[in-house]
Parts: sequence; C-alpha cells; structure tokens
Amino acid sequence: MQADTIITNARVLTMDPDHPRAEAIALKAGRIVAVGLRAAVEALTGPQTQIIDADGRTVLPGFVESHLHLVLGGAELAHLHVGGLYGPEALRAAFAGFAARHPEAPLLMAQGGTYTMLDAPMTRADLDKVLPDRPIAITAADHHTVWANTAALKAAGILHGMACPHGHEVVMGADGLATGELREFEAFAPVIALGGEARLNLGIATGEEPSPWPSEAEMAIDRAKVAAGLRHCAAHGITSMVNMDGNRFTLDLLDGLRREGKLSARVKVPFHFKPHMGLEALDRAEAMTRDFADDWLQCGFVKMFMDGVIDSRTAYMLNDYPGQPGYRAEPLFAPARFAEVAVEADRRGLQIAVHAIGDGAVRNTIDGYAAAARANGLRDMRHRIEHIELIDRADIARLAALGIVASVQPPHAPGAMDFAKQPTLDMIGAARWQDAYLCATLAGQGARIAFASDWPVTDVSVLRGLGAALTRPSYAGGVNECLGLMESLHAYTAGGAWAAHREGLTGTLRAGLAADVVMLTGDIESARPESVADMGVALTICGGQITYQA
Ligand SMILES: [Zn+2]
Repeated sequence: MQADTIITNARVLTMDPDHPRAEAIALKAGRIVAVGLRAAVEALTGPQTQIIDADGRTVLPGFVESHLHLVLGGAELAHLHVGGLYGPEALRAAFAGFAARHPEAPLLMAQGGTYTMLDAPMTRADLDKVLPDRPIAITAADHHTVWANTAALKAAGILHGMACPHGHEVVMGADGLATGELREFEAFAPVIALGGEARLNLGIATGEEPSPWPSEAEMAIDRAKVAAGLRHCAAHGITSMVNMDGNRFTLDLLDGLRREGKLSARVKVPFHFKPHMGLEALDRAEAMTRDFADDWLQCGFVKMFMDGVIDSRTAYMLNDYPGQPGYRAEPLFAPARFAEVAVEADRRGLQIAVHAIGDGAVRNTIDGYAAAARANGLRDMRHRIEHIELIDRADIARLAALGIVASVQPPHAPGAMDFAKQPTLDMIGAARWQDAYLCATLAGQGARIAFASDWPVTDVSVLRGLGAALTRPSYAGGVNECLGLMESLHAYTAGGAWAAHREGLTGTLRAGLAADVVMLTGDIESARPESVADMGVALTICGGQITYQA
C-alpha cells in the first residue's frame, strides 16, 4: 500500500490511550492508514506520496469545536467589531469608518459589544449620538442582547414595542418608546432582518424554516457567508464542529457547499426545539436525522434553551440575584414540561443539548434527563448541558452518574480570555463564586468534558481557548479549575468527538479513522501555559484534504 500523504518527524499526540505518542502518520483515501514510528510509517511512501516534514512540531487529531454558531459566525466576519472599545468617542470613530466603507448598507451591524461599553446601560439616545441618520445596532458579545439606535428601531418597526414570547423583550422606556435594548433572539430579529440576515438568524431565533423558501440566488449569498465561516474555522485547525442552532435550511446550505467542494469540516446541526412547540415537532428532528446521516453532515440531536445569560440577568438561578430580593429569573421550560420533551426526544433516540447557565437551569435540565432515564432506561445517549456557568454542588454527582456531557467553554470564564471579570462576577455574587465556571471539579467527579468557543460569542481560536483552559483564574472560595494540557487537548479532540457520538470517526489518530489532522506551529508540550495562546496552526487536513496551510 502507498499512502497519499505522510506527515513525519512529528511529535504526534494521538489521544488514543493505547498508543498516545507517535512520530509519523500516513493518510490514504481520506482515512488514517498508519500511526507509529517513522520507519514503519515511511515504508508506505510511494512515487505519488506527499511527504510533509513536521520538523518536530506537534501533530494532533483535527480539533472538534463542540459548540459554535457557524452560520452567524460566518456572517459576522463582515460586520464591524467593537470588542474592547469603551466610551462614545471610540464607538463614534469606529462607526464613522464603517459607515463610510458601506455607504449603501441598510443596517450597520456591530459585534462584540459589552454591557459596560458606556458608563450607564446603553440606550437608543446614546447610539443616536454615535450615528443619527442611519440604522445602526450593536450585538453583545454573548449574543443575547442587541442595542439599536432610533433609526434602526423605526426601520424595523419596533420603536413602539412588539409582543414577544416569554423570555424575549423589546425593553420599553417611560416615554412609551423602545429604549433601544433588545433582549434575546426574537426581540432583535426584526433589526437583524434589516441587514438581510433574517434567514441566517432563524436557526437560533425560532428554529423555523425560511418562508418562502429562498431562491437559488439568495441561497448562494448565504452559502458564501457560511463558506467564509468554514475557512475561518479551518485556519484554526477545526475539522469537526457541533452547531448549536439550526434547521433543515442550515443543513441544505452546508449540503450545497459540499457539492461546491467547500465543506471543509464535518458539521452536526440540531433541530432547535422552542418552548411553544408540541411534541410532534420532534417528527421534524427525526426527519432531519434520517436525511442527514453521513460522515460530514448529521443532525441526530435537539437543541433547547433553558435560560438566558448572567449579564442580562436572564440566567435562571436557585438563589436571588445579589441586590435583587425575590428575583431569580425564570426557566424557559417549566420542569414538568421539559421532562416531557426530554423523555420523548430520548425515547426517539435523539440526543439532547440544553443551554443552561444558571444553577436553577442546570438543575431543571438534570431533572429532565433523570426523568428520561427513568422512563426509557439509562442508555448511552450522551445528553449534554451547554455552558454550566453555575451549578449547585449537589448536582455535580448527579450529572456524572447520568452520563451527561459537560460542554463548557474555557474562554467564557470571566477573566480567562476576552470577557472581563466584571460585571459578571458581581452579578453572580461572591457567595456563589466557588461554584461558578467549574471545570476541573466537574472532570474530577467523573463528568465527560467537551471544550468549545461558542463562536462568535468568543474567538473560535482553539489555541487561545487552550490557553484560557490552562491559565484561567480561580475565584475566591473556589479551587483551581484549570485542566492539564493533555486533558485540555482531549476536551478539544477525543472528548468532543465522543460527546458528538463521533468517536468511531474522528477525534483520535488511529488507523481506520478519518484523516482529520492538525499540525501546530511548534511543540505544544514545551510551551509554557501562558504562551500556548500565541501558538498557531500550521496545517489543517480534513478527510485527507488540506483545508488550511499557514
Ligand atoms: Zn451558543
């Protein structure tokens, strides 16, 4: 046998516990055919074999990004980025330049806003001063709030308010007009629509399909945005991803990219189950699962939101928010209702992934998974909880015992990467810091860990995420929650693949598995934890094809 590609002279970390280290790897027809010592692997060299000399650099399984929003991330690459900007002057300058570069844009959309960009909560009046005559809006980095100026609210038809489903809100002022703050996806959907991205927002906002179904020309515009997102992820070494919003339309866009030869990663896309849906909506999840079930595009799971986020105080807590007696926010699914959906999805063999940030939301979710296990038997479902920013100690052992995946994002911990410690930590309250953003504690009690960025909520860079996992701060009263290098790498590779039911396909470097490989720009084991974030990706291979080369 002759290999198509051999990567040799490498420090290969296979993530395969039986053979954790190797020097070389051979690929053929999209699969790994050998992993081992140089001599054995190089014996597969033929006249056509491409030899890549790694020069002692680290080679790993292609990264598995376990929680991201590919379609939104791809579209946002073209938006204005205001992360790190503070004060009206900085915003004015940024928007002035962006407006000049986009004279025809119906909406000037910015990303990466923080809740403390201005000294007081941002209003449409503040944004009118930034740019009065054209619609502008800023999405919070967490993507759960949008702030819009008066022109944008008017153009979107929501200046006088709008009825929204529970948990979503066009915030109204004393003057009877919208303040400019729009909480959660359905409240800001009309503003997003101004920018021509309503279709791309459906997967996260409503889970519904575009109606009418887009024309081929519209599909091509959308595909180009998703393709940009895929290229961006390939440059960060990502070969598999679990999208955390979706509908059939998302899968159709990706299928179109596959036909164009642009699908550079394996993508799982969920059916998004919203609180108003009846159980029969799971028929659509099953149909998506049936129609997309190969090594590249899969459904197979249901995404739900149990609550919002801490910074807008929509995360559902077991205790009152500090300084707000009696206020804990509310779950988006009442416990009995969630249990009913979980039992039925589980019965149908669908994996479930629930966004749960507050400790109340986490408990509701565990309770529902426990109900599913009681009703249908505890099977290997690998139901997941996304985020777990706060958890009651009593729930950690339950989570592990039920085999629930802890899908956590190292960059989200305040102070770990781009998110400041405040105001988030104050909103949690010092009394609860010991149980906030746990990672090592969850792993230590037996929870299966998968790491991710939640891009575009944070930078999709896996190396920066690794850096955050290795160096994140501890909070008063808590313990060091950093995982070690190998455990962290595992959570970005084999752990993520397992959490996605794809360990038989990818996530480790083992003969027979898909040829999904990443080569770093150096030897990660000799790097100090503080400098891991500065390393780069030299080469990404997915399914045997080079998808990125530095
Ligand atoms: Zn997310």
